Amino acid sequence: MNGGMKNIVIIGGGFGGIRVARDLGKHDKFLKSKGYEVLVIDRVRHHLYTPLLYEVASGCMIEKGMRMESELLSGVSFRLDEISKSCCGVGSLQGEIVGVDFNLKKVKLASGTEVPYEYLVIAAGAETDYFGIPGLKQNSHAMKTRADALALRQRIQDFIEAKKRGEEVQIQIMVGGGGATGVEFSAEMAGCFRRLARAGEIKNGDWSLTLVEASPRVLGMLPKRASDITLRRLERLGVKVLRDTCVKRAEEKHVVLAPRPLKAGESPETLVCEFRTEFEKIFEVDVLVWTGGVRASSLSEKAGLPVDRKGRIQTDESLRIHTRPDVFAVGDCAAPVDPQTKNTVPQLAQAALKEGELAAKNIIHHIRREPLEMFGFPSYPTVIPLGAKNSILVMKGFIVNGFLGWLVRQAADLRYFFSVLPFWSAIRVFVTGARLYTRND
Ligand SMILES: Cc1cc2nc3c(=O)[nH]c(=O)nc-3n(C[C@H](O)[C@H](O)[C@H](O)COP(=O)(O)OP(=O)(O)OC[C@H]3O[C@@H](n4cnc5c(N)ncnc54)[C@H](O)[C@@H]3O)c2cc1C
Repeated sequence: MNGGMKNIVIIGGGFGGIRVARDLGKHDKFLKSKGYEVLVIDRVRHHLYTPLLYEVASGCMIEKGMRMESELLSGVSFRLDEISKSCCGVGSLQGEIVGVDFNLKKVKLASGTEVPYEYLVIAAGAETDYFGIPGLKQNSHAMKTRADALALRQRIQDFIEAKKRGEEVQIQIMVGGGGATGVEFSAEMAGCFRRLARAGEIKNGDWSLTLVEASPRVLGMLPKRASDITLRRLERLGVKVLRDTCVKRAEEKHVVLAPRPLKAGESPETLVCEFRTEFEKIFEVDVLVWTGGVRASSLSEKAGLPVDRKGRIQTDESLRIHTRPDVFAVGDCAAPVDPQTKNTVPQLAQAALKEGELAAKNIIHHIRREPLEMFGFPSYPTVIPLGAKNSILVMKGFIVNGFLGWLVRQAADLRYFFSVLPFWSAIRVFVTGARLYTRND
């Protein structure tokens, strides 16, 4: 506690955590009058705008060097202390939380420091899930952090550099997971290779990109028509899409694929897998990118909280943990149930923001001894970039594809930047992105 103040501690400065901080910051005077201070603790010093991370991995391949890397990052990664202070009006601390003592109401940092809390919000996000597939973690690139995106970019740039030196090299990329991240990276990367080929830097036969998806459709969470449009778009860009196909094993230069396991009542003929009659097939792969799934931050389990099969903390409808009325969980690490569909809310930034809003409101209600509000998840538009100035937008059953979808996506990005950054910083970030991220188009 600082000078007798009581802490509202937020673990994680991602989408959910920053939204809680920002909305609590709006009640700054009230909280101070009641003796509360808000503190965001994160293991990293930045807030990451993941929806544009694929642009860092695939952007400006011709230009090398740290300067270009930091320019690319400046469109997706913002200093947490600045956001916390300028937009939320709250404090921040860098540190890895390694445990929570719920009885003594303290969070424990790896450094040994303990921070007491009066209210705790767990917004620790998710980690890449490798589903125990042999060799996958060791032999693949993930797409979850800044470091992941830069490592992947570096690997592809090495190939382009070798081509520039006149070496006879080729690159075979495989992307595992045909959800939003796998699709947007594949589309953008294919667009980049095609542009490099047009510019004479590489030949079109020098690259191949295969997207592997375990279900019969890419973007399986969207209506079938959106999946079909996306599949056609990817194939037009030169991406080979293997559906109903699972990654079984990964080695340094090979990936073993197999038809997905059949469900009860299915026959092999129902699969759209290209090699459904074979047990396994080995593919030569230079770069394997894994975007096949996430599971909630391991912190939830370490803290001994009740979790579902994806490691997400089970909350009640007010986002509190059942057994702990002073602890809330939001975002990818939480498993609130959508009261309308009765399904667990998807691990999306939009859901994390909505949950962050509610957790902040309910903390204020609790301090005021008012009844808490219940969670309601309205349906939001989904916009998935499909390379160049082309996105697919799905909103209440309507599907818009192409430039209009891209414009909506630009507006959504800008709106978010305005919500966390000072006005001119938001404009600068947006303009930087517009300048750099469209170079593959
Ligand atoms: C490449 C990519 C693209 C995406 N695109 C979209 C999209 O277009 N639209 C969409 O809606 N969603 C998208 N998502 C999903 C979206 O990023 C997540 O749903 C969202 O980030 C969840 O917010 P969060 O606050 O729960 O977690 P995060 O935003 O991940 O934040 C969690 C924070 O907690 C910190 N943390 C974790 N553990 C600890 C610890 N032990 N100690 C201290 N700090 C810790 C992390 O460093 C991180 O900053 C995308 C995800 C990825 C990876």
